Amino acid sequence: MTFSDLGLSSALVKAVEEKGYAKPSPIQEKAIPHILEGKDLLASAQTGTGKTAGFTLPVLQHLAETKHPKYRPLRALVLTPTRELAAQVHDNVREYSKYLNIKSCVVFGGVNAKPQIATLRSGVDILVATPGRLLDLHDRKAVSFKRIDVLILDEADRMLDMGFVRDINKLISFMPEKRQNLLFSATFSNDIKKLAAGILKNPVSVEAEPQNSTAKKVTHKVYKVDKNRKTEFTIKLIKDGNWKQVLVFTRTKHGANKLTQKLVKAGVPSAAIHGNKSQGARTKALRNFKDGSIKILVATDIAARGLDIPLLPHVINFELPNVPEDYVHRIGRTGRAGAAGEAISLVCSEETEYQSEIEKLLKEKLKSTIVEGFEPTDTAPPKRAASQSKKSFGRKNKGGNSNSSDRNKSKRKPHFKGNKSVKPNSGRGRTGTPKKKRS
Ligand code: AMP
Repeated sequence: MTFSDLGLSSALVKAVEEKGYAKPSPIQEKAIPHILEGKDLLASAQTGTGKTAGFTLPVLQHLAETKHPKYRPLRALVLTPTRELAAQVHDNVREYSKYLNIKSCVVFGGVNAKPQIATLRSGVDILVATPGRLLDLHDRKAVSFKRIDVLILDEADRMLDMGFVRDINKLISFMPEKRQNLLFSATFSNDIKKLAAGILKNPVSVEAEPQNSTAKKVTHKVYKVDKNRKTEFTIKLIKDGNWKQVLVFTRTKHGANKLTQKLVKAGVPSAAIHGNKSQGARTKALRNFKDGSIKILVATDIAARGLDIPLLPHVINFELPNVPEDYVHRIGRTGRAGAAGEAISLVCSEETEYQSEIEKLLKEKLKSTIVEGFEPTDTAPPKRAASQSKKSFGRKNKGGNSNSSDRNKSKRKPHFKGNKSVKPNSGRGRTGTPKKKRS
C-alpha cells in the first residue's frame, strides 16, 4: 500500500516522501480513506503511530480541493492538550502542506497573543490550538468558527484529564453543526465515550497499535528501594549500564527539578521538562535530549505526554504514578523496533498500593528485585495510611479557567478498563445538535 493508493494527491505524496516515509503506517492506512470520504472518525491511537499524518494529510487534501472565499476563513481546527503537541502538530502541517496553497497557524498559551491575533486576522485555512488560548482569542474576536468544516480532537483523553471539557464544548458551540469530526485518543474512559457520543456522528472506529508494537516487548522491572535512596540508585543504574538516553518520570514538578539538580551534580547531563518551565526551556531540553547533548530527561506525566520523544531502550519510573493508566503511557515510550525495552520502576514501601493497581490494570504481576547494598529498610505503612499518602500526591483539578495549556492534571479515580476501543454511537443522526457546556 502506498500513499497514492490511499487517494492522496501528488503534492501531498511528494511532501511525505521528502519526510522519508516509505509507506503509510497502519493507522494512516485505516483512517485516511474514511477521512477523505468525509466521515466522522473515532481513532484509538497514541503518539508514535503516525496519527498526526493520519488526520493531517486527508484534511489538507480536503482544504486544497475545496473552494474558499478570498479572505480565507478558518476551515479546519486541531485541538491539542499541550503547547508542545500543538507546536509539533503544526510543524507537521507545515511540512505536509509545503506544495499546497494552504495557510496554517498555531496558537497556545504562555506566549504573547498579539502576533497570534495578527496571523489569524490575516486569514488561515487550518489552525492548531490549545483550548484555553483559543477560547481567549475567540472572545477577543480574533477568530471565527462559523466556517469550520473539520474539527480534530487530538489526544482527547489528555484534554479531558486536564480539565478542558468545558472549553471544548464551548468552542464547539460556536461552530456550524454540519462539519466533519475526528477524535483521537489513547484510552477510552467513560468520559471520553461521553464526549465522543456528543460530538461524533455515525463515526467509523479505527484502532492502531504503536508502529513497532508487534516487534515490541517491554520488560517490567521493579526495584524495591527506600524513598531516600532512589536518587543514588538511579545514578548507579545509569552509570553502571552506561545508558545514553533515558526518560525518567517523577510525579511532581518539584521532584523533577530536585532529581535533575542531583543528576547534574553527579556528572550526568540532565534536564527537567514540566509545566513550570518556560516554553523556551522545554523546547531546548527536548532538542538537547534528542541530539544527545543531555542523557537524561526528567519529566512529569503531562509534560511528556504527546511529545515526539524517540522510543528509548529504558524508561525509569522514579516514582510510580498514582493513576495506573499513566504507567501504560509512560512505558509506551520504551522499546525500539526489533528490540526489547525496559520499564524500570523504583518502588518504596508507600508505593506498594500503586504497584498493585498497575498490576491489576496490566493483568500481570511485576517482578520485584532487591539490589545488594540497597535493601529497603522502610516498612510499609498500614493500608489506611497508604491511601492517605496517596491523596496527598494528587492535586484536584479546578477546571474552568484554562489559559494555561499545561495545567496540573486532575487526579482521576483509577479504573481498570484498559485501552479498549469504544463502540461508535450509531444511533445519532448527522444533524444531532452538539452538546454545549457539559460537566
Ligand atoms: P505521531 O504518532 O503522529 O506523533 O508520529 C510519530 C513519528 O512517526 C513522527 O516522527 C512522524 O514523523 C513519523 N511518521 C509518521 N508517519 C510515518 C510513516 N508513514 N512512515 C514513517 N514515519 C512516519
